[in-house]
Amino acid sequence: EAGKIPARILYYELIMSSGMTDKLILENDLHKALDNDELFLEYQPQIDLQTGRITGVEALIRWQHPEKGWISPGTFIPIAEESGLIIPIGQWVLETACYQVKLWEKEGLPPLKVAVNLSLGQLFQQDLVEMVQEVLVKTELEPQCLQLEITESMTINIDQMTTALRNLKELGITIAIDDFGTGYSSLSYLKDFSIDCLKIDRSFVQKIQSNSTDEALVAMIISMAKHLQLNVVAEGIEEVEQLAYLMASNCETVQGYLFSKPIQPKLLQENFHEIQNN
Ligand code: C2E
Ligand code: CA
Ligand code: CA
Ligand code: CA
Repeated sequence: EAGKIPARILYYELIMSSGMTDKLILENDLHKALDNDELFLEYQPQIDLQTGRITGVEALIRWQHPEKGWISPGTFIPIAEESGLIIPIGQWVLETACYQVKLWEKEGLPPLKVAVNLSLGQLFQQDLVEMVQEVLVKTELEPQCLQLEITESMTINIDQMTTALRNLKELGITIAIDDFGTGYSSLSYLKDFSIDCLKIDRSFVQKIQSNSTDEALVAMIISMAKHLQLNVVAEGIEEVEQLAYLMASNCETVQGYLFSKPIQPKLLQENFHEIQNN
């Protein structure tokens, strides 16, 4: 037929016009990134406000692309999730993070808890519990030193979620709700689920000082968590004033640039005492 455009070209036009190509290229590159050691983890300290000590770290993934340079997890984690690559990448993150805290312990740092972010696809992964258990055995990390972070949005699938979490909890690890306060779910899961910790989202912490309603919300979340016997971590502390408010509200643990950005393991080890004494 004269004038008919081959399907292949139409498809090409379609993905071009929808901005899909960048994503497909990145997805393809992400496949190689694991094998080529382009992925690494940084760790951000969590500070106990009562003692002033670093009691834990959150592991955060980084990608140094050979040509494009630094690509933020906000860009490539969604691609990993859509493509299923999050399964091997997530396993690599968990193993690397557990191995690292064990290594710090061997090198004389006080025992630390490591928080690892879990994606929805991982939570519903068939062999998740076996995988986590294998990593704990392989790295010889005590289960109580591992915390998995899930987000409030994952609680929407409540039944599947409860089963997955129960099985995980039997390993002796703990579970935190990340970005708490930003989801739209009902709070009932807090009493039904095996949650140990709430992480107050940065957006609330950053409104301390400028917005009294958000200040009240932060205080309310902390007090609610206490009633439910949950730990609280406030994220994204940048200002001394925010810290003062959180201390006055009896927040237990904080994490944010005021103390340290996420940094590479060697740097964290070298600056451990300095970060604590800030
Ligand atoms: P998140 O889990 O909420 O992680 C906290 C984010 O806030 C991190 O961004 C961290 O660098 C940043 N942050 C910490 N303190 C401050 C502060 O004081 N001020 C400001 N402005 N930011 C602060 P990052 O590293 O870019 O990670 C973004 C998101 O990507 C994470 O949000 C998490 O959802 C996801 N992510 C990161 N690593 C992993 C991973 O290994 N697995 C999965 N599934 N997701 C990950
Ligand atoms: Ca997190
Ligand atoms: Ca968060
Ligand atoms: Ca977040």
